[in-house]
Amino acid sequence: MRGIEKLHPVVRAKAERLVELCAADGLPVKITETLRTQAEQEALYAQGRTTPGRIVTNARGDGYLSPHQWGVAFDVCRDVKGREYENNDRFFEKVGAIGKTLGLFWGGDFRSYKDSPHFEDVDFMPGNSTATLKKQWGTPEKFMANW
Ligand SMILES: [Zn+2]
Repeated sequence: MRGIEKLHPVVRAKAERLVELCAADGLPVKITETLRTQAEQEALYAQGRTTPGRIVTNARGDGYLSPHQWGVAFDVCRDVKGREYENNDRFFEKVGAIGKTLGLFWGGDFRSYKDSPHFEDVDFMPGNSTATLKKQWGTPEKFMANW
């Protein structure tokens, strides 16, 4: 899902601010993905494992392990047609650095699987884990009902 309105209000504000700050720095950023349903996360997890394509996530859908399922993460690309993921000018590192000033964790800093288009809110994701959210709310639906 792509709509920025699907994000937690706090994370949505940070995403909007990130786009603004990057634009002011000559970095055109577009939000490409926000909230994922369990079915969408399971389909993504299957990719490269039981369905064609390359592996793009280590988070299974059934345990609510992805911050995208909780509406506290989003992905970006360069807002230039045909050059969305080009990085010869270190575009994603620059956007990542700006994101960090807003209290976002940048996916390029993951130790195992680098995910440069990815951002998640560290306040909701201590240790890059959904454990705190799961412990407090149980399911994304219960979390979202309290936004
Ligand atoms: Zn992501």
